[in-house]
Amino acid sequence: MVHDEMCAAPTADQVSTLRRRQRPLIPVTIALVVLANLALVAMLVWSSLSARRMLLANATVSTANTAQALADQAHTAVKMADTILVGMVDRIETDGMSELPAMRLRSVMAKHLADTPALQGLFIYDAAGRWIVNSGNRTYEGRNNADRAYFQYHRDHPGRAPHVGAPIVGRTSGAWVIPVSRRIERADGSFAGVALATIKIDFFHRVYRQLDTGQDGEIVLALEDGTQLLASPFRESGIGRNVAATAAFAALPAGAPRGTFAVGQGEQARLYGFARMAEYPMVLMVSRAKEALLASWRATTAQVSIALLLLTGGLATLGTRLVRQIGLRDRLEAELLETKSALESSNASLAALAYVDGLTGLFNRRYYEQALGREILRAQRQQAPLALLMLDVDHFKKYNDHYGHPAGDACLAMIGQAIQRGLRRPGDVAARYGGEEFVILLPSTDQDGALAVAEAIRACVEESALPHAAAPSGIVSVSLGACALVPGVGGNDMEALVRRADTALYAAKQRGRNCVAAG
Ligand code: GH3
Ligand code: MG
Ligand code: MG
Repeated sequence: MVHDEMCAAPTADQVSTLRRRQRPLIPVTIALVVLANLALVAMLVWSSLSARRMLLANATVSTANTAQALADQAHTAVKMADTILVGMVDRIETDGMSELPAMRLRSVMAKHLADTPALQGLFIYDAAGRWIVNSGNRTYEGRNNADRAYFQYHRDHPGRAPHVGAPIVGRTSGAWVIPVSRRIERADGSFAGVALATIKIDFFHRVYRQLDTGQDGEIVLALEDGTQLLASPFRESGIGRNVAATAAFAALPAGAPRGTFAVGQGEQARLYGFARMAEYPMVLMVSRAKEALLASWRATTAQVSIALLLLTGGLATLGTRLVRQIGLRDRLEAELLETKSALESSNASLAALAYVDGLTGLFNRRYYEQALGREILRAQRQQAPLALLMLDVDHFKKYNDHYGHPAGDACLAMIGQAIQRGLRRPGDVAARYGGEEFVILLPSTDQDGALAVAEAIRACVEESALPHAAAPSGIVSVSLGACALVPGVGGNDMEALVRRADTALYAAKQRGRNCVAAG
C-alpha cells in the first residue's frame, strides 16, 4: 500500500513509445534512397531509349532524303539524254536515213555532248547495226553494234519508249556507260535503226563518292529488273551484276515511288531509303547498318550508365550511413531514457523509503505528520469528519524485559500487520509514531466509525494471541484512544484532535488496558 502510493509512474512505456515514434525514420530513409535510385535508373533508361529512337528515326529520314536527291539527279541525267535522243530520232525520221546530212548531225551531237556533262557519247545505227553517225570525230567504217542488247531490244520491240540498258563498256571510250536508246522507224513503221546516248557511270560515281553516308553506308543505283548500274562503295565487279535476288531488292516495296524499309533483325538490320525514277525503270537505294548507327549511342549510354552506377552507389552508401546514424542516435536516446527512468524510479523508491518505517512497513512519523496536516485541510474543505486513533502496546516494557529486545521488535512487526488487517479503506494512514506507539488517521470517519476501526484493530491483535508471560492476560494486547471531529475554520483542530486521542488512550490504559476509549 505504501509503495503503490509513493512510486512514480512506470517509464518503460515511455521508452518504447519513443522508440516506436523514431523507428519509421529508418524505413522512410531507406525508401527514399531506393526511390531516388530507381528514379535515376528509370530516367536513364527512358532518355537512352528515346535517344535511340530519335537516332534511328533521323537516320531513316536521312536515307530516304538522300535516296530521293540521288534519284532526282539520275532521273535528270537520263531525261536530258533521252530528250536529245527524241530530237535526233525526230530529225532522222523526218529527213530519212539515206539523205542523212552526217556532217551537220555530228556537229549538233557534239554540241549536245559538250553541253551535257553526264553524256559519254551519242550514236546512230542503221537497221543492220552499222554505225552511221556518232558524236565523236571518229571513222565508223565497218563497225557494227548489232550484237548489243539495246540494239536487239529495239529491233525486236516496235515500241517508241526509251530503253535504259544494262551497263556496258563503251566501244569508243572503254569506260563503263549506261546506254539510253530509242528506236528509229521508217514511215511504214518498220525498224530503221537505233539512236543511242551513253551516260558515264563515273558521272554518278563522282557524286556518290563525295557523299558522307558513314563507313557502313551503301548506295545502289539499279534497273527495276535488278541489274545493278552502280554501287557505292564502288566495285567494278558490281557493275552490271544482277542483284534481284538480294534481301534488299526482295524487300523493296513494289510500285512505291519512294519510302523506307528495313532488312534483317534487331541490331543486325540495315535501314533502307529508296526512290524510283518516274519515267525510267530505275531505282535508287541508300542504306545504313543499324549497328554502326547505334555505335556512338551505345558508347554514350555505357558512359552515362557508369556515371549513374557511381551516383547510385554513392547514394546507397550515404543512405546506409544515414540509416546507421539514425539507429545509433535512437539507441543512444533510448539508453538515455532508460537511464533516466531507472534514476527516477530509484529516486521514487528512495523517497518512498524516507516515509516508511523499516520495522513494521507502516508509514513513519514524518509521513504521518504531513498526512495529518493534509487531511485536516481536506476535512476542513469538505466539511467531513476526520478521525485519529492512538495505539500503545500494553506492558511492553515487561515484554522486552521477559523476551528480550529483538523479540520485542518482532512483536511490534506483528502489531503492524494486525493494524493493517484492521483497516478497511485505502485512504487510511497507519504510522508508527515512535517506540511501541502507533497512530491511525481515518479520513471521512466520525466518532462511531473511529471506535469501530479501533475495536477491529484491538481484536486483530488479540486474535494473534502472541504469548506475553509477564502480562496478566498472558497474551500481547493493545490499548487505543479514538476521537473524531469536523475541522472548523481558524480553530486549532490538529492540536485538539491529537490531545483528545492521547487523553482517550490514557483513559483506555486506566480502564485496564486491551480496550478502546473515546476521546
Ligand atoms: P503500559 O502498559 O502502561 O504501556 O506499559 P509499558 O511497559 O508498555 O509502558 P510504556 O508504554 O511506557 O513502555 C515503553 C517501553 O517500550 C519502553 C521500551 O522498553 C519499549 N520500547 C520502546 N520502543 C521500543 C522498540 O523500538 N523496540 C522494543 N523492543 N521495545 C521498545
Ligand atoms: Mg508507551
Ligand atoms: Mg506501552
